[in-house]
Amino acid sequence: MIMSHTFDEFAGMVKAFHGSAAPGIMIGGSMVDLAYRCLPRGGIYDVICETAKCLPDAVQLLTPCSIGNGWLKVMDTGRFSLAFYDKYTGEGTRVFIDPEKLDVWPEIRGWFLKLTPKAEQDTARLMKEIEEAGSGVCSVEKINVSLDLVEKKKGGPIALCPSCGEPYPSERGSLCPACKGEMLPYGSGRRGGGRMDECR
Ligand code: ZN
Repeated sequence: MIMSHTFDEFAGMVKAFHGSAAPGIMIGGSMVDLAYRCLPRGGIYDVICETAKCLPDAVQLLTPCSIGNGWLKVMDTGRFSLAFYDKYTGEGTRVFIDPEKLDVWPEIRGWFLKLTPKAEQDTARLMKEIEEAGSGVCSVEKINVSLDLVEKKKGGPIALCPSCGEPYPSERGSLCPACKGEMLPYGSGRRGGGRMDECR
């Protein structure tokens, strides 16, 4: 079971949300389940995912935490790991894939460590191993989150960017980050440029 869902039920949820029952989300489901089993009941938990790949979707499908509501943050170390913590005390549980535990699961190991070329991957066997292994490929550690480092920023004052004319938090500087050329791969959207009246 993955948080009260059977493996097949969860695979259906993942497929509807993500487009396919991606192995990373299926393992992620077992990681969320393991974390919840290790946390004291009744707390209010936020979560940090250490990768943007797959794992955040498992969290968003199985818990009230989402990127949009701010209870899920991605801090991309590239490790396939998540950490739930009590939002008032910072005490929590970190779950990660433990390479020592992969030896008995050759399909998972080959896929996870990218040892098996994609063309040689046996998806059915991989999914069967993921189902059988459950959280058996994971280890858990206690963590203590420094709450001042994850505090939600209160929204400050808003300014109109003198270049594009759009509202943005004035603490970001005298121009919005788009117009400073820091962020976007499609230009800054300068006032009037390329604007369409309506789309049909
Ligand atoms: Zn601007």
